[in-house]
Amino acid sequence: MAEPLIKVEQLIKHYATRSSVVKALDGISLEVFPGEIVAVVGESGSGKTTLANLILGTEQASSGSLKFQNQVLNMKRPLELRRQIQYVQQNPMTTLNPRRTIFQSVRVPLQTHRVGNSQEQRKRVADLLELVGMSRDYLDRAPSALSGGQRQRVAIARALAVEPKLVVLDEPTSALDVSVQAKVLALLVELQTKFNLTYIFITHDLSVVRNIANRVAVMYQGKIVELGSTLNVFQNPEHPYTRMLISSIPVISEEEEKLKPEWPWERNLALDSSKKSLGCAFAPRCPFAETLCWEQIPELYHLNEHHQSACHMISGKIQNKLEKGFI
Ligand code: ADP
Ligand code: MG
Repeated sequence: MAEPLIKVEQLIKHYATRSSVVKALDGISLEVFPGEIVAVVGESGSGKTTLANLILGTEQASSGSLKFQNQVLNMKRPLELRRQIQYVQQNPMTTLNPRRTIFQSVRVPLQTHRVGNSQEQRKRVADLLELVGMSRDYLDRAPSALSGGQRQRVAIARALAVEPKLVVLDEPTSALDVSVQAKVLALLVELQTKFNLTYIFITHDLSVVRNIANRVAVMYQGKIVELGSTLNVFQNPEHPYTRMLISSIPVISEEEEKLKPEWPWERNLALDSSKKSLGCAFAPRCPFAETLCWEQIPELYHLNEHHQSACHMISGKIQNKLEKGFI
């Protein structure tokens, strides 16, 4: 097997607030291989952006290790390493400086990494615009003249300007209309194939990853609770949180509805989510939780070569309970 491009080991990031410590990342381990699209999924506050910030070097980890092709990724890192890892952020309305033209914005990484002279940079930016499906007529326009989808295309062009190996995409389509979302996703997939890019694709929306990701890491409160190939995770979601996420994806056909995992919603509603668990963080919301779940933190168990889940109830226990009507 190829060497991982990114290797994350036991990564921890704690934020001390006035009254408590927020465990934004609570021991994350993950390998991402060249040419993969790995989706990082989880609800708001689960630590996704924190993970992105550590990979990009805008924040420093509390502990643990982060490596890119065996080189340590700290906040302080060589320029060449910076070039290799680029970022597309969530909000296309705020990522582009309103006082800069599109050319000026997309040119920034070229200046930072000293690629070409002024004239060459202008040509390169025009080519990049074309690459993301935009005309060079936009070069001297302000971001305010662009739609949300166009701005996100510009942000993608800027991320690709210096030919990175890894692109971290933090909710790249979440702020866009559904119809625009599909087009931007298609563009991202096309570019990934064309340049053999590696993506870490962060989203709170499982439905967008189904068609694009090779693997999925599901995060809950700073931990990865399920990790596997997209096929494995969607067909056999093991962690109750993943089941919950998948069963709440809106579907358009009866066939799709049948493929959804069973989820005892009513039970979930009756649960007291203010109860604190010393074990599994999901226990207060989990209709399957037993005493063990409240007391002991579950490790990631290997279900097979391509699938891991951090749940005490794996190996068919949940299905058993459902079939026997215990839930
Ligand atoms: P996500 O991107 O999944 O929504 P984040 O990584 O932004 O989650 O946040 C994870 C947790 O860390 C949240 O509880 C958030 O409030 C907290 N957090 C993030 N950044 C800071 C910070 N600078 N100071 C204190 N808490 C933070
Ligand atoms: Mg976020």
